[in-house]
Parts: sequence; structure tokens; C-alpha cells
Amino acid sequence: MIVENLNRVRSSLTDGVELVAVSKYHPVERLREAYDAGQRVFGESHVQELVGKCEALPKDVKWHFIGHLQTNKVKYLASFVSLIHAVDSDKLLKEINKQALKCDRVIDCLLQVHVADEETKFGFTFDELRAYLASDSFADYMNVRIVGLMAMATNTDDDSQIAREFESVKEMFDELKNTTFAGKDYFCELSMGMSGDYEIAMRHGSTMVRVGSMIFGEREYH
Ligand SMILES: *Cc1c(COP(=O)(O)O)cnc(C)c1O
Repeated sequence: MIVENLNRVRSSLTDGVELVAVSKYHPVERLREAYDAGQRVFGESHVQELVGKCEALPKDVKWHFIGHLQTNKVKYLASFVSLIHAVDSDKLLKEINKQALKCDRVIDCLLQVHVADEETKFGFTFDELRAYLASDSFADYMNVRIVGLMAMATNTDDDSQIAREFESVKEMFDELKNTTFAGKDYFCELSMGMSGDYEIAMRHGSTMVRVGSMIFGEREYH
């Protein structure tokens, strides 16, 4: 089942879009099935769970942390995480930089922008993001690299609202590409889209989709 789902999602991807298989709450055996079908990029949103799965799966898996990351947990991921999607504060970026330095690595990160009209979603507003990048405090962090932006759309049936939100993130991304990150080819990732809205996201410039339930089925929370 997982392999069929995976292949269905893969065949619907726009060329060049990376699939992050969101495996949170699913047991290692399910991830292994996806791994055996060639999937190498997995996304998790709980630190302990990610660490455990990392130990259980082959070393060529690329682990993406997609959830809200607490500063005191960065140290558990720093030695191996390949991308942190949802950096939403200077405090967090500073800590990632510190832990990355200890591991003698540069950790790739995405800054999370807040566009959904929901209280619970983390992230910088566009104005906060501009102000933060203009403040240059991030420029001191030699062991992190900002490779793009990440966003979640409002959880709604209104596709046109979702499309507008993704479009606005794409405009922000393009603005930064021409200003703060001008000439920085590594600033190239736009992580947008989940099971319910990744096709809309791809039409609006997503380069990386985070798809969970459409591959692994419904999650059992425990
Ligand atoms: C859980 C999660 C996903 C995947 O959601 P699905 O609807 O199962 O595809 C994507 N992004 C983030 C940040 C998540 O926490």
C-alpha cells in the first residue's frame, strides 16, 4: 500500500520538486517500506522520535525536521539533521548555529513564514522577516545556512485562499532572492504543501512538498 501511495504521489510531482515523506507517528517498518521503494528523504516533527528512527534506518536517509523545534532539543539533532524546516526565531537560529559549530557542521535551515489565518501557526510575518534579515544578526551565524522559506497554508476547503497564501510566500521568496540573498544560489528552496494542498503549492512555486498521510495513511496519535 505504501509503495503504491508513494508512486502515486511521485508521479504527480512537478519536475524538480523534492518529496519529503512525512513519517511522524508511523512505525519504523513503514518507513522501511518507503525506503525500500527508494525514498530517502523523511520528515519528522518530534525530536526523540526522529533520533530513534535515525538509529533504526540506514545511514543514507536524509532526515528533515519539520515541526516546531525547541531550543533545548537542538543538540540531539545537530550531528546529523539534513534540513530544519521551521526556524521561527533568532533564538532558535542562534542555538542551531552553536550546536552546529560543536559538530563542525553547517546546518541548512528554512525560515518559517506565517501566512495562515490561524492563531496556532508559528513563523515570521513578512514584516518581521524583512526586519530580521535587515538586522543582520543572522549574518554572524557561520554554521547555519538559510536555504529558503517554509510555510503552511490555512487549513480550509477554499482553494483560492490557499493559492493566495502560497502565492504571497512565493513573492516574499522572490523578493529575498533579489535582495538579502542576491547571488546566493543556495537560497533556492520553498517548502510548501502537504497531502491536502501540495498540488496547489507546486503551482505556486513550491520546490519541496511535505506529504504524510497520503503516503502512510492516517496517523495514530498515542
Ligand atoms: C504533519 C505535517 C505534514 C504532513 O501532513 P499530511 O497532511 O499528513 O501530509 C506536513 N508539514 C508539517 C509541518 C507537518 O507537521
